[in-house]
Amino acid sequence: MVLEIKDLSVGFHTYRGDINAVRGVSLSVGEGEIVGLVGESGCGKSVTAHAVMGLLPQENSFIKEGSIKLLNQDITHISNKEMTKYRGTSMAMIFQDPMTSLNPVLTIGQQMTEGIIKAQGISKKQAHDTAVALLKRVGIPRVEDRMKAYPHEFSGGMRQRVMIAMALICKPKLLFADEPTTALDVTIQAQILALLEELRREMNMSIVLVSHDLGVIARICDRVNVMYAGRIVEQGSVREIFHKPRHPYTMGLLKSLPRVDNDNSTELPVIEGQPPDLLYSIEGCSFAPRCSMAMKVCAQCRPIAQDIGDNHYVECWLPVRDREEGPNE
Ligand code: SF4
Repeated sequence: MVLEIKDLSVGFHTYRGDINAVRGVSLSVGEGEIVGLVGESGCGKSVTAHAVMGLLPQENSFIKEGSIKLLNQDITHISNKEMTKYRGTSMAMIFQDPMTSLNPVLTIGQQMTEGIIKAQGISKKQAHDTAVALLKRVGIPRVEDRMKAYPHEFSGGMRQRVMIAMALICKPKLLFADEPTTALDVTIQAQILALLEELRREMNMSIVLVSHDLGVIARICDRVNVMYAGRIVEQGSVREIFHKPRHPYTMGLLKSLPRVDNDNSTELPVIEGQPPDLLYSIEGCSFAPRCSMAMKVCAQCRPIAQDIGDNHYVECWLPVRDREEGPNE
C-alpha cells in the first residue's frame, strides 16, 4: 500500500473547546490508484489530507488517535523537519487556488528552477531544462516565453498546470489533489482531470482526490470514500457507490445532483438540516437527525461498518436490519 490510515482522529483546540474534526478515519490507497474523498464542507476531508501531509496548523491542532503509514513508514507523529523528507519527494499536494501557492513577485521559471535545484541539487542550466520539460509535459504552450511570465499573467487553468508540474519535480508516489478544479470552468476542469489521469498512468502515481463534487469523483476515481461529520460513512468502487449507494447520506447527495434526463419542472431534492457541531460528542449515528430512514437504534448506538460485498462498506444500521428481516419481509 502507498498510504494506509487507521482510526485517525484529529482535533483542534478552539476558544469554545476541542473540535473533533476527524473521528476515526480508516482508508488505504494502492499503487497507481485514484481514491476520492467526498463530502460537504467541514466533513473532515481536507483535514485528513493535511494530516497526512503534515500541514495541520501546529499551534492548535493535534492527532488524537490512529496511525498514518506512507510506503510502510509510520509518519503519524514525526517532526516537521522529518516530514520534509517525505513532503515533495514521496508525496505532494496541489490546492484549489494555485494563485495562493505561487509567489506573485517571481516568474514561473524562477519558481520552478529554484524548486528543482533545491530538490535535485543540479545546476541552474539543468534545472532550467527540467522545468521546461515538466511545463511542456503538463501542456503549457510556448514554454520558453511562459517561463519569463509572472503568475498573474497565467489563466486559472494554466496556473493549476504549473502547480501540477511543481508537484511532479520529485516524481512523488502519492499526490493529494485538494479541490483542484473547483475554481475552474467545466472545460478546463475536464482538461485538468484528464491530465491527472494521464500522469497516473505514465508514472504509476497514486492520487487522493478531495472534492465536494461527485461529478469530478465519478470521472477519474477508482474508489470513493464518502465522509460525513468527520467519519467515512461509505466506501466502495465508483461503480458500487454511484450505482448501488446504501448509506442514506450518499443517496441524498446523488439525488441532489442535476441530471440531463430529469424533468426540469421539479425542484432538486435537498438534504434537510445541518451537520452536527463537532465540538460535542455524538451518540449514535451522526446523520440520524437528517436521515429519513432513521430507526430507534440509530440515535442510541453508533453504527459499525458493514461489509456488504464487492469491497463495499457502509456505516449504517440499514444493512443489519435488512439482513435480520430477510429480503422478502
Ligand atoms: Fe440513517 Fe440510521 Fe443509517 Fe444513520 S444508521 S444513516 S440514521 S438509517
